[in-house]
Amino acid sequence: MRRYMKAIFIKKNEHVRLNRSESERKFTVFCNKSISFAFVAHILLIPIFFLLGNPYVLTSDLIAVVLDLICLRLIKKDFIRMSSLIWVLEITVLSSICVFVFGWGQGHYYYLFSLIPVVFFSRWPQFLRIIISAFLFSVTLYLYYYTHMYSPITVLTPFMATFMYVFNVTANFIGLAYASYYYRQYSERLEQKLQKLANTDDLTGIRNRRCFERTAKSQLEHYRGHETQCALIYFDLDHFKRINDTYGHAAGDRALKAVSDACRQLLRKEDLFARIGGEEFAVLLVNTTHTEAAQVAERLRKCIASCSLVLEDGTQLYLSASVGLAAPQTDDDKLSQLMAHSDLALYQAKRGGRNQVVSLI
Ligand code: GH3
Ligand code: MG
Ligand code: MG
Repeated sequence: MRRYMKAIFIKKNEHVRLNRSESERKFTVFCNKSISFAFVAHILLIPIFFLLGNPYVLTSDLIAVVLDLICLRLIKKDFIRMSSLIWVLEITVLSSICVFVFGWGQGHYYYLFSLIPVVFFSRWPQFLRIIISAFLFSVTLYLYYYTHMYSPITVLTPFMATFMYVFNVTANFIGLAYASYYYRQYSERLEQKLQKLANTDDLTGIRNRRCFERTAKSQLEHYRGHETQCALIYFDLDHFKRINDTYGHAAGDRALKAVSDACRQLLRKEDLFARIGGEEFAVLLVNTTHTEAAQVAERLRKCIASCSLVLEDGTQLYLSASVGLAAPQTDDDKLSQLMAHSDLALYQAKRGGRNQVVSLI
């Protein structure tokens, strides 16, 4: 139990130590906006409840305004779990009092349904979410039973009854629409982020092998029957192990980043450029003649050979790459066959003395 209490009343410093997750941050923003919205609604209700003349409802609404402010303050201080819990209980109590006083017909119980997203998006322990949901469900059923057994304490005029009903329906529609929109945006953004992470090479920021293979397959499919317009370049940095061994792994990383940046600038947007292994890169050229592809391969080799990288101690690093070039031979040439051909060309460039282009087109 102590563990659960700690989870609810978690303190600011502990939050920092736990490195607040993205979803926790999102929930904080969501709560902040929802409570601010409720705060405004509760202020608007003060003159209305005053006119209706029921002291219990008016006092409860005034307490709700104060509690909204306390909850907003608690959010600022990073007590998000405690704040959301107080707020859910506050809305439950205020809505229930309104149902007891005005009866079932004004739709105050809708607020109990609208709290369900808050309960399930919250960062409370699972057992508490289940208990609070069951509590909201029971309260709703009890209010239904009570209001059908006993008459309202304050009977509203037809105009005020309609006004209160429209007010409550509108507030609940806005609240639920906001919650759905907010979390939809959030999940879409998260999906995009994950997609990007899954397709990107961490070090260089270009495509990784998985993304390259998937995109290259669909590109080759698209260009089926126009094989003379596609070519695949493979290049591998020469004696890269020596750079790592002599200057350290960090210097090797910097060299990989410098090479990828330089090549990226040289290539077109539609060229599929990726890091497919440690110090191996691939470029799928489409809509490019074989003569042009050979020129691009030679340009890449020259670009890497002239890539100057100066380390912190002033040491100048010289790089070079061996480049292999191949093109699809037949209509049915699969990506794996094309990759094997480019690899063979690259192997020949290494055997031929490195820092050169070998074309198997
Ligand atoms: P070759 O000219 O025959 O290609 O020789 P090489 O030394 O480049 O080839 P080898 O395959 O023996 O070594 C590749 C080296 O690349 C070994 C590995 O430590 C290094 N490497 C692979 N990935 C990374 C990386 O992400 N960062 C750094 N710094 N080095 C890497
Ligand atoms: Mg190498
Ligand atoms: Mg290699």
